Amino acid sequence: MTTSTQGDVKDRSLAPRGKERIEWAARDMPVLRLIRERFSREQPLKGIRMAGCLHITTETANLALTLQAGGADLVLCASNPLSTQDDVAAALVCEYGIPTFAIKGEDEETYYRHIHAALDHRPQLTMDDGCDLVSTLHSSRRELLGQVIGGMEETTTGVIRLRSMEKQGVLKYPVLAVNESNTKHLFDNRYGTGQSTLDGIIRATNLLLAGRTIVVLGYGWCGRGVAARARGLGANVVVTEVDPIRALEAVMDGFRVLPSLEAATIGDIFITVTGNLNVIDRPHLERLKDGAVLANSGHFNDEINIPELEKLAVRKRRLRDFVDEYTYADGRQVYLLGEGRLINLAAAEGHPASVMDMSFANQALGAEYMLKHASELQPRVYTLPLEIDQDIARLKLKAMNVAIDTLTSEQQSYLNSWEAGT
Ligand code: NAD
Ligand code: SAH
Repeated sequence: MTTSTQGDVKDRSLAPRGKERIEWAARDMPVLRLIRERFSREQPLKGIRMAGCLHITTETANLALTLQAGGADLVLCASNPLSTQDDVAAALVCEYGIPTFAIKGEDEETYYRHIHAALDHRPQLTMDDGCDLVSTLHSSRRELLGQVIGGMEETTTGVIRLRSMEKQGVLKYPVLAVNESNTKHLFDNRYGTGQSTLDGIIRATNLLLAGRTIVVLGYGWCGRGVAARARGLGANVVVTEVDPIRALEAVMDGFRVLPSLEAATIGDIFITVTGNLNVIDRPHLERLKDGAVLANSGHFNDEINIPELEKLAVRKRRLRDFVDEYTYADGRQVYLLGEGRLINLAAAEGHPASVMDMSFANQALGAEYMLKHASELQPRVYTLPLEIDQDIARLKLKAMNVAIDTLTSEQQSYLNSWEAGT
């Protein structure tokens, strides 16, 4: 059993700085603060063992404190080898007594050792971002499955993986797809990824984006946000898609839509946000202009075919943090940011607290909902009820001092009727 002082972090002396940064983020997480106050009184998670595999950031720390206030016995591990904020990990262990297994830059072996360490806690509730915890539990730690009540999943790709597990009949407990809440993907994926991706690229490179051609691969929730913000910074934005409806939407939003092989020849900066594999593949890599910059803000480090990039290059060197220069035989040089991992979390700090406030309100209320309703649920993927989603939106509006109208009873019955015509 894990004790409160356990964990594997880079440097415990960073804890005071981590605590201050966690407090700064808390200022912009008013919805989570209200949930935390209620959780402290009502203790809905009392004594429940939880394991969370999330990006270890100031925002995640505030979620962890909310769950802890609700009585949860929580451990955390990283959901990405490059996204951990080491000072936050230290603060979680030393200041708040939450065992945390996460070191920025950890290798793959350590990443999975940390997931196993979190699973050693014998969780009754799992919280995942990308489905690595759940898939490890369902493959090499099956002996623990019997005590799991349910789980929550944070992101698009994790939900896709879970739905595939459900379809194949291998998923053994119910999971709430937090990503599917409107108060999650409409804001986190769009405005969060939009801002933090460009923040990551700018922090890594200090390039001016105005006047450059930025190619956004994928026009889903993340792609829409990235494209809109890139345009706002004065870039010429090109979008690539495989879905005709999304492509049409991009065209009518005023973006140039091109096949990716064509875009490969004109782009200055490429940003993948598809959740798919090898979206920038060898044929694209072969066509790139000298100086092209490649970044991923979608799923794992496989949206850009890095093994092929390694093969194409005759020389590679790290030019600055998060910038690897690859020199081709003909002298062209291309730059891969953040080793092809999520650039917003690798080179910047991930989404700002204000959007994570809503994503993590869904996580916290999801944990409470799962405990209340697990006995009625099958081992399938569920979404949170619309009422919870709307409550989160209402609380957020209130915190932002924005008032809205309510339907009059006359309007309500009009909207429910069919008799009245022109
Ligand atoms: P989404 O399903 O809304 O959008 C993905 C889009 O990519 C779709 O429109 C799809 O048609 C398109 N696509 C798929 N294959 C393609 C290809 N080969 N070329 C061009 N387009 C292609 O998903 P989303 O919510 O936008 O999430 C995208 C990815 O980003 C997921 O992996 C998700 O987990 C991840 N994500 C990252 C962050 C972050 O912090 N960086 C935040 C949220 C989600
Ligand atoms: N684990 C995978 C999956 C993508 S992560 C990977 O790392 O490759 C994408 C998720 O990161 C989003 O759904 C978003 O909610 C989360 N995220 C973004 N910024 C964050 C932050 N500041 N703190 C915690 N999680 C964050």
